[in-house]
Amino acid sequence: MLVYNTLQRRKEEFAPREPGRVSMYVCGVTPYDAMHVGHARTFMAYDVLRRYLESRGLELCHVQNVTDIDDKIIARATHLGEEPVLLAKRFMEEALRDCDSLGLLRAHLYPTVSGHMQEIIEMIEALVGKGAAYLREGSVYFDVSAFPGYGRLSHQNTEEMQSSGRIETDENKADPLDFALWKSAKPGEPCWDSPWGPGRPGWHIECSAMSLKYLNNGFDIHGGAIELQFPHHENEVAQSEAYTGEPPFVRYWLHSGVVFVNGQKMSKSLGNFVTVKDILKVTSAEALRLMFFTTHYRSPFDYSDSKVEESKAAWERVQQSLRLLDRERGDRTGKPVNCEGIEGPLAEQAVRAEARFHQAMEDDFNTPLALATLFELVSESNRYFSENPPPEERRVQAAVALCKLTQLLSVLGFSTSDEGGEEAVDQSADLLNLLVEVRQMARSQKQFALADVIRDRLKDLGYVLEDHAEGTSHRKIS
Ligand SMILES: [Zn+2]
Repeated sequence: MLVYNTLQRRKEEFAPREPGRVSMYVCGVTPYDAMHVGHARTFMAYDVLRRYLESRGLELCHVQNVTDIDDKIIARATHLGEEPVLLAKRFMEEALRDCDSLGLLRAHLYPTVSGHMQEIIEMIEALVGKGAAYLREGSVYFDVSAFPGYGRLSHQNTEEMQSSGRIETDENKADPLDFALWKSAKPGEPCWDSPWGPGRPGWHIECSAMSLKYLNNGFDIHGGAIELQFPHHENEVAQSEAYTGEPPFVRYWLHSGVVFVNGQKMSKSLGNFVTVKDILKVTSAEALRLMFFTTHYRSPFDYSDSKVEESKAAWERVQQSLRLLDRERGDRTGKPVNCEGIEGPLAEQAVRAEARFHQAMEDDFNTPLALATLFELVSESNRYFSENPPPEERRVQAAVALCKLTQLLSVLGFSTSDEGGEEAVDQSADLLNLLVEVRQMARSQKQFALADVIRDRLKDLGYVLEDHAEGTSHRKIS
């Protein structure tokens, strides 16, 4: 299996540190506002990567930090008159609910900065002790000149890094590229005691302290959006490797591409800031997943209303095909079908699609190609049934195609339960009619108490029964 490693700028054979086990750290949110389309795309990229590795039998440990102490949080909290750490907690809970709505697997751990102050301070102390960091006016800075490999991850020389526009200016720094590990307290800001006086950690140190604590040195995958490559990830490498003295800190650095909205960088001032809640008002998590996966995770992604509409239509095509296969299969038990070793035109297509699907995913998680093979199978299924195949082969061919399609869709994280679909609606109507019939029987046998219980319980579920001379009708309370 090949993965593209930013560090080497090429695809490499993926070999985890420990056979069968994968350790993955993904830079998480700074919770000061609602989650947006950029977060959704980034986290979905690591979600599918994780799901794929797990589907191949690897055991994965996924850690995602929460930057609950940060300038943006402090600014927003001051504006709203809230405690910064409490504001961060509130937005983090909201972010987790958004992740659930998006169908993302939850990380195994969500460590916070406020919960790891001791580890962070110990790491900074060790860096000072090793001569890799220095103290100025109650703040501590990492000395970039002490780390010869600085710039290796983002493939930039000193001039390029200095002119990147991403360097924090601070007159206390000995070199413009040096960065704060600990910031001395400013009036009115939250602060913690440290050997250098009260203050709070700089941004980068948390990810080194937490990933080294939970995944140990030399862990497998470090992920995040491409914007974090420099300086955040470059700084993580420098401080971690200076601290452990045992490179590499991370084996594979993976970066997901930048996200635009209507061709522009997303920003509140441009009025093109799209939150996860906004998106899920107009489309489903499944259609959104399909929309993101039609672009490779490393490529830039441009979000637009037309893409949302296209992906909704494409997901509906998949669902229609699944319904067709389900009807043809003629088995409503939902039991998995053993589809190995079955021959026939559609079954063979399905087996070929499965092989191509894995080939695509094993090549740096090429979801656009993997999806294309599934869409081909959808078209093949539709074509097969439109040509009136012999009745004796329809059922088993449908079973195999359905089995492979649902299996592969679920590897990519799609839910195929079709809760809002025609079939589900039809079935609830059938069940409702059955209950009305049972209640009629109870009434005709003068079991009025039972009849009333059925009517009341249905009302609790949102259905009103109305008795007329010609029978009973039901309607949903809107
Ligand atoms: Zn990070």
